[in-house]
Amino acid sequence: MAEKRMYLAKLKIKSSEMRKIDAHALRAFPDECAGLLVGTSGKGGFEVKKAVEAKNTKPSPVGFEADPQFVYKVHKDAEAQGLQLVGIYHSHPDMHSFVSSRDAEFMKYWEHLAWLILGLSRSEVLERKAFTMKDKLIEQIELEILP
Ligand SMILES: [Zn+2]
Repeated sequence: MAEKRMYLAKLKIKSSEMRKIDAHALRAFPDECAGLLVGTSGKGGFEVKKAVEAKNTKPSPVGFEADPQFVYKVHKDAEAQGLQLVGIYHSHPDMHSFVSSRDAEFMKYWEHLAWLILGLSRSEVLERKAFTMKDKLIEQIELEILP
């Protein structure tokens, strides 16, 4: 019998934005890429309207560092458009999509945001998963790619 997993929340994203993220991840390979997800959030989860590439200030295959000034600006721009910062995306080159211990450390400072993690090879994105942290616990959330 197939197990049906129950998720508490959902991350919805338009396929056009997902393609942008995929392209960013492949372009950055073998380094990680990172960016911000702008949209709305509510009881049912998160809805991404726009993915914004972050300049990685410390390119590396095992981490990323986004410029805080940039994060602040995206935050402000989102607010001006009646939106909010709802999540962060990053890639795991030659690895699965999972929450690394380093990611978990970061998540503590960004509770209640959605974390979209891509696992990829040099030629293709193999896996996409979304997570969030609530009361210091990491939860996987359902990723729904809208047409
Ligand atoms: Zn990671």
